[in-house]
Amino acid sequence: MGVVSRPSGVVQDDSRAQPKLAPAPSKPITTSGIPDSDKYVDRLLRNAEPLPPITWSNWYKEVRWFNLSVIVITPLVSLYGALTTHLEMRTFWFCVFYYVFNMIGITAGYHRLWSHRAYNASKPLEYFLAVAGGGSVQGAIWWWARGHRSHHRYTDTDLDPYNAERGFWWSHVVWMLVKPRIKPGPADISDLRKNAVVQWQYRNYLAIALIWGFIVPAVIPGYFWGDWRGGYFYAGFFRIVTVHHSTFAVNSLAHWLGESTFDDKHTPRDHLVTAFLTLGEGYHNFHHQFPMDYRNAVKWYQWDPTKWFIAVCNKLGLASHLRIFPGGEIDKGRLTMQLRRLKAKQDTLEWPMDSNDLPVINWESFREQSKTRPLVLIGGFIHDLSSFMNQHPGGRGLLSSNTGKDATTAFLGGVYEHSHAAHNLLAMMRVGVLLGGFEHVPEIDIPPAQRLRVVDFGG
Ligand SMILES: [Zn+2]
Ligand SMILES: [Zn+2]
Repeated sequence: MGVVSRPSGVVQDDSRAQPKLAPAPSKPITTSGIPDSDKYVDRLLRNAEPLPPITWSNWYKEVRWFNLSVIVITPLVSLYGALTTHLEMRTFWFCVFYYVFNMIGITAGYHRLWSHRAYNASKPLEYFLAVAGGGSVQGAIWWWARGHRSHHRYTDTDLDPYNAERGFWWSHVVWMLVKPRIKPGPADISDLRKNAVVQWQYRNYLAIALIWGFIVPAVIPGYFWGDWRGGYFYAGFFRIVTVHHSTFAVNSLAHWLGESTFDDKHTPRDHLVTAFLTLGEGYHNFHHQFPMDYRNAVKWYQWDPTKWFIAVCNKLGLASHLRIFPGGEIDKGRLTMQLRRLKAKQDTLEWPMDSNDLPVINWESFREQSKTRPLVLIGGFIHDLSSFMNQHPGGRGLLSSNTGKDATTAFLGGVYEHSHAAHNLLAMMRVGVLLGGFEHVPEIDIPPAQRLRVVDFGG
């Protein structure tokens, strides 16, 4: 089918009175309707007292030396170990097991339980998670969950401690190597203050990190199969490095790689690779939209072992009150993004003009102008068929015989019941509306392709 260009040149009837435009709004407002100056985050940022920028003369005072040492020394020791130590198969599988043990402490414990209260845990499960997470050497629950709550409350702003807008490496690791220029935004942590296990872990954090991070993973392979050195380097140091960077990937990779399945206002994304690295935390777009949900992946086939772990604990009576968002609300987010993608595609198409955009002409003028070009009246719209005469599947003759006439009945089935594609195409050939003769014909008024058109309410 050829490209149809819209003809012009029909005499304009100016008898229609134009309504008056409304006056311009007196006060500019943001798209959300709240002036920026009234927004909580803007107010906090205005009142913040940032530390001076890091320069060559002050950088050594601004570095968090303890964190830097842990982040730099652990991979160096691992590398030395890997170059000088044979990796036994049993030690390898123990490393995998210990990695999962630590990660569960972080994902099911530090993150979903203590940062988000996504479920209630029994005391034995809380102690298990506090020890498992402590062994990953990422700081105490207290510090971790507090920062994470700020991350959610102030996502992508300077009050978010690992603000992804500052770049991949900042959100991955640099944020914890220097003192924050602006303190993380305030978050309610009263529940953590009252939590006995969180407080116990905080008081004993160094001992827990040392024992469960370095001593236990070296002693188990050493005592049971004599591989002290492999346990020390692989299950100890190398495993800590992998646990570190897998967790850090949630702040960097999961804000960078993948799809905005539920919302695109902020940086979090959903991706299988990140989910695989992090025991299911990679469905991060979902997580930022529905943070108190104990799941990060909602579909049964998506990779979320942390969700499965919590569900098993629930079956065993160790966890209860698993929180889930209503399915309809989740579907609304997904549907909004699907519609947004469809709208973007839709906006690339050319759509027919409606009666308000077209000139109105009377019957005599329509008849007169039909003598110089093939104009046909269908459903009150006047169409110029010049570009279509030779492409009409029913032949040129049928069109010629209806020139200057009302062919509504013929088009709607009197001669042939046209396809949806024909309706769409016909609407693109509109050049005018008949004065006083506009007959409301739903099939013609809004062509089929336009009936489910996605509209935008703004925002
Ligand atoms: Zn995030
Ligand atoms: Zn979170």
